[in-house]
Amino acid sequence: MKWLHSLRFKSALLIGLTSIGMHSSFAQPVASVAEAKTEILWLGQAGFRIKTPGGQNIVIDPWITGGPKAPAAYKADLSALGKVDLLLVTHAHIDHIGDAPALAKLHKTVLYGPADMITPLVTLGVMPAELTHRFNKSGSVKPLPGIKVTAVQAEHSSLYVWKNPATEKLESHPAGEAVGYIIELENGFKIWHMGDTGLFGDMKFITERYKPDLVLMPIGGNFTMDPDDAAFAARNWIKPKMVIPIHYNSNPLAKGTLEEFQNAMKGSKVKVVPMTEGQTLAF
Ligand SMILES: [Zn+2]
Repeated sequence: MKWLHSLRFKSALLIGLTSIGMHSSFAQPVASVAEAKTEILWLGQAGFRIKTPGGQNIVIDPWITGGPKAPAAYKADLSALGKVDLLLVTHAHIDHIGDAPALAKLHKTVLYGPADMITPLVTLGVMPAELTHRFNKSGSVKPLPGIKVTAVQAEHSSLYVWKNPATEKLESHPAGEAVGYIIELENGFKIWHMGDTGLFGDMKFITERYKPDLVLMPIGGNFTMDPDDAAFAARNWIKPKMVIPIHYNSNPLAKGTLEEFQNAMKGSKVKVVPMTEGQTLAF
């Protein structure tokens, strides 16, 4: 499978990525997993729907109803996202956990997340235990046929703010440690969703151990790496085939811009693939 993947990837680089817009048809079936494309839809901030070559939909960090840049069609109706086969959340901040509990219940889909983020969701009654899966850094799961997800380090924090229905007051609950995810698809393609993270030296170790092809990398600053930090990691440590910058343009405190990141990446062999919220790329 490796050579197929690498061949397909090279041709994707030659012909460029295909933007198919948010209203594209998701007609199935495809000829085979080896020939099928991966489709990535940016929901804004750190939120993505990844349609795998095998036709499975993975949703990560869906901040939709409250997300200022989330596509209107999904804000109006979460079910417009289509079936959700796997839900991943990197940590409990609202711009990441967002609508994940609602989507889990809507689709009877298990929500996978850091162990100590899942626990308060269950004990507070936000999530039924049977729709949750707790795991932790270096832990891996195979939640769908041909899909492997490994939780990896992120240099960040995690706190769950919950409105107590009995008191109507907001409460802050510790929610474990933030993680990133290495998501390996059916064809061997590996996506590293970094979650929210600052710069840390073991990005080198994660690269050596998991060899990600595509990195979804926060650049907004303040809460995460800024454009210079992100470019430093991408150019010097990770050197993936492609980077999609995320976690900017949605919070006035996170001022890092796409242009700053692109400037900081000038001359690098790493392909920067900018997206706009609501856009879908196929490769
Ligand atoms: Zn965060």
